[in-house]
Formats: sequence, C-alpha cells, structure tokens
Amino acid sequence: MPFYREHWDAAGVTPEAIRSLDDLDRLPVVSKREMQAAGPEAITSTAFDPTSLVSARTSGSSGRPFTVRFDPRWLSVRRAMFGRALMAAGYRPGRRLLMLTGGDKRQPPAWYRWRYASYKEEPARLLDELERFRPFALYGWVTPLRELARHALETGRPPYHRPSVIVTTAETLDAATRRLLHETFGARVFELYGLTEMGTAAAPCPSTSTSTGVFHLAEDVCLTEFRELPEGTAEGGATPLVMTNLELYATPFIRFDTGDLGVPRSASGGERCSCGRSLARIERIEGRLVDSVRLGSGRMISPFQLTIELERIPGIDRYQVIQEDTDRFTVRYEGSEKGADERERAARRALAAVVGPRCEIRTERRPNLDPPPGQKFRVVESRLRGESA
Ligand SMILES: [Zn+2]
Repeated sequence: MPFYREHWDAAGVTPEAIRSLDDLDRLPVVSKREMQAAGPEAITSTAFDPTSLVSARTSGSSGRPFTVRFDPRWLSVRRAMFGRALMAAGYRPGRRLLMLTGGDKRQPPAWYRWRYASYKEEPARLLDELERFRPFALYGWVTPLRELARHALETGRPPYHRPSVIVTTAETLDAATRRLLHETFGARVFELYGLTEMGTAAAPCPSTSTSTGVFHLAEDVCLTEFRELPEGTAEGGATPLVMTNLELYATPFIRFDTGDLGVPRSASGGERCSCGRSLARIERIEGRLVDSVRLGSGRMISPFQLTIELERIPGIDRYQVIQEDTDRFTVRYEGSEKGADERERAARRALAAVVGPRCEIRTERRPNLDPPPGQKFRVVESRLRGESA
C-alpha cells in the first residue's frame, strides 16, 4: 500500500531493517490526519479483492471521518475480541444479552440469545424490553444507560428485570454513573475500550472492584506502546497510546496514534494478574473528550448519536458540534466550498433528526478546527452551564 511505502521511504527504513520487535520504533508513528489525507485507496492493501472487503466509516472522537476497509478474517477476529471482553465481564455464550444500538440492526437469530434495542427508544419502553427479555447482561453506551437508570429511579418503577452485569462502551464511564448503574440495577458494572481501527483493545480485569476501571490490553492482537511525553507534560501519568493491529491486513494500522491516553499499570511480559491473565494492565483511559447533550425536555443523549449521523455525510473532512444552549447548536466543519450548500443542509437535517425539529441549527465552514493552544479538541462540546467535562 502506497501510504506506508511513502512514509517508510521518507524515514529511510527498508524491510531488511525490521528484524525483531525492538526495530518497531524505527517506523514512524502515523496519525489519523495523515491517513485521512492519503485517501482510502492509499491506505488499502492491494493484496485483497476489493469486493471482498467491508467498509466502515470512523472518526472516534477526533471528528475526522475516514474510511477503513476490513477483510473477512479480521471481522472474525474482531468478533472474538468482543466475545472475550464480554466473557471477562462474566458473560458466557448462551446467556441472554440485551444490546442498546442504533436500532437499524436486524435481530440476531433466536439461538444466539442476543437482542438489539434502540438507544433512541424512550427509557420507559427500554425498561419494558428489559422486563420482557430478562437478559443476563445489558450492553450499551454510557449516556443511554444512565438515562435508563435515572428514569427507573425517578418514576420508582419496578418491576424491571435486574441484569447481573452491565457493560458500557464508547463514552468514558465516570464514577457517578458507575455507582448509579450499580445501585439501580444491582449489577456489576464493567467498561470496554474499543476502537474501529483495533477492535476491543482493552477488556475489564474481572478481579477489579466495581469502583475503579482496570483493563487488560488485547496485546495478542494490538501491540500497544505507551509513548513518552516530555517531562512535566503528562497529566496524572497518562501517556498517548500508539497501537499496531497485528490481525487487520486490509487496512494495516502500524504504529497508529489512537489519540487516546492511558495510564500503564504494569508492563507486559508474563507478570500474572490475580485474575490469571498475563496481558498488560492499564488504568483509566482518557482523551475521549466528548460531552453529552441535554435537550430541553431534560433528556440526555450520547454525543455519539450525533457523530454517527454526521459521519454519513460525504465531504466533511473534520467537524465539531457545539451545543450553545438547550435548543441551539452549531456544526463547524472543514471541507471544500464545492457542494457546501447541499452538505450543510444534510448536516442540519441529520442533527435535527436527533435533537428535534424545534432546535436552531447553524452550520459554519471553517479553514481549521484546531483548538487554541493548551485546549483539547472536543468533537461534541456542550456550553450549557455545568454540563462540560
Ligand atoms: Zn486481571
């Protein structure tokens, strides 16, 4: 693939120079920005029949959507990684799992014992679904799960089924939400860390208490490097996570800067955790700076409900959603002038479908969305008082 050939040539690295794991740091670290700029053809391996590949559009929390192509083998590995992470949380195949998703997914066959429910659904209906399906595990993004727990508490509405475990993903699970979910449903609460480019890169350590998040890295699939920061710039010991995906060949990610930060707790290399795993441990994953959105009705929605809609629109190189007030939003984006009107109409329509037609939505094309020095980029930023962080 042209992308790495170019980068490695520029760094003066030849294939002969790579002989052992120690040679990995001769390769340049690559960023999302560089891969996006190169375009999908340059980052896709020519070793695959393009018709056998599955495309996924992603930005994570960087606001830079780009297309990643998956080969069928990787799709199997990715499913296995997800299954392993669920099992670390206590799930076993054959047990019932209720998954909160976008809602356009087809239900899996009954023998699978998984059920999808939409996070767009009213909390009361989701509680009905919980009571009807009676899952062992409940899985979803943090904000919809928090809304579900709040609704149950506020309406004092038993009966609802209490799942044994709740597994969250995508948004960082804060301590207050972890407690709320645990107290409302009496479940053990676990968090997964996944990336489109890497699959479920970190699974919860089962011997951790419910009050802190400690993960085991899926080092057998994603080689993880903790990049050192200049003295004094690391916040609370958190360092950037640079990952190499060892199993995805259609779009190779080699020394990929994930844009996320983590606090390493133990190095890899056989040191066994009390849970029995020897995979490296990591504490607290940071860097996903996104805010939830609070609507006029008081309902909170996940920032990823907005990003999923906007990333379907072509021609947006980078974007950011700002909630100015409960009923006022601005979408800023980088993109060419050509087709701007149509693109902006599509963006307003997509956002209105989530936040409601009564909200005022503005669009702004900007040459550059980099935040001012010293500030971090938030793909969804709420300026409502007391809602940030
Ligand atoms: Zn462990």
